[in-house]
Amino acid sequence: MHRETELSDGSALTVSLENITVGYGDYIVLSGVTLFLRGPGLVQVLGPNGAGKTTLLRTILGFIKPLKGHVLVNGIDVTGRPSQVGRYAGYVPQLEPSARHYPITAWELIETECKIRCRGGKQQRRIEEILSRVGLPREIWHRPIGRLSGGQRQRVFIARALVHDPPLLVMDEPFSAVDPVGKAGLAELIGELSNTKLVIVTSHDPMLLLKYTRTVVLINRGVVAVGPPEEVLRREILDKVYGGAVLVVGEHPHIFDEHGHGQRRW
Ligand code: ADP
Repeated sequence: MHRETELSDGSALTVSLENITVGYGDYIVLSGVTLFLRGPGLVQVLGPNGAGKTTLLRTILGFIKPLKGHVLVNGIDVTGRPSQVGRYAGYVPQLEPSARHYPITAWELIETECKIRCRGGKQQRRIEEILSRVGLPREIWHRPIGRLSGGQRQRVFIARALVHDPPLLVMDEPFSAVDPVGKAGLAELIGELSNTKLVIVTSHDPMLLLKYTRTVVLINRGVVAVGPPEEVLRREILDKVYGGAVLVVGEHPHIFDEHGHGQRRW
């Protein structure tokens, strides 16, 4: 299957997946996935539970080596090489509940990352810049991460991924541990970051990022559809992967998936 989409002209970064097959042992999760993404812009990867969304992200990042096929970043073969991809990419994994118990502060987390990844001697200034950029107020920089709200905590981990100012940002379920008020602000931040970076996000709430989204990649063990949201988020396409879990009310498809968060709508 060959799927291709371009996000914008003249931009800095491309990610190509060439006919990849990914499995855990002999359990095949993704089969024959071909994609071409160009940044900057926001890509939402959607699909039901177990569709392979996290597996796709981790394959792009080189953490998983596909059984077949190649991953290219800016034309360079980085298949299964996380240190190569890491030059271009920042990764924000899904927040574990244990993040609520982090005793270290936002400042300390970013400082530790900066010691590894920041160039030059102006680390203090760089840490201030990054924490400000993700919208964290100065008065909470030295508070333990475990005492921040879900939205603030997610911003800290976005800040960590931005330390080396990568052109690619990969985020797994960034809204999963965030309250409704925090979600709106976080969506704005992710939308803003996608003005200058290729941002690839998995989500169970596509509506939250809809107005910033250039491309939706709908997967279910392979690529089902790729394109702008108005082309992909249509009843007949969603039915292919969500089946009876899609209900259209007015113009809005609603998804009832098995993820345990109730109704999804946009
Ligand atoms: P999604 O993010 O769409 O929910 P995942 O990529 O997490 O899906 O998982 C896809 C499938 O692969 C699921 O059936 C899951 O149980 C399985 N899987 C994920 N990680 C592993 C692993 N480390 N070992 C074995 N199976 C896994």
